[in-house]
Amino acid sequence: MAKVYTCIGSCHAGVSLEQYEKGVKKCGAKNCDLRGHDFQALEQCPDCIVASLKKNKLHTCPQCRPL
Ligand SMILES: [Zn+2]
Ligand SMILES: [Zn+2]
Repeated sequence: MAKVYTCIGSCHAGVSLEQYEKGVKKCGAKNCDLRGHDFQALEQCPDCIVASLKKNKLHTCPQCRPL
């Protein structure tokens, strides 16, 4: 399982643990209803881990477990 951080608002943006530790801790998406809120720690489900690797972009879904 991979730990990631994601916005639970409308943008669904996500960052890796590495990015989070470098200081990307809040949503900065212009049109997000939770802009400025802290990202939520998530444990990616196996499907999302595969999807993230394939697309080279962080992928999360409602099945990913909040920590
Ligand atoms: Zn957001
Ligand atoms: Zn998932």
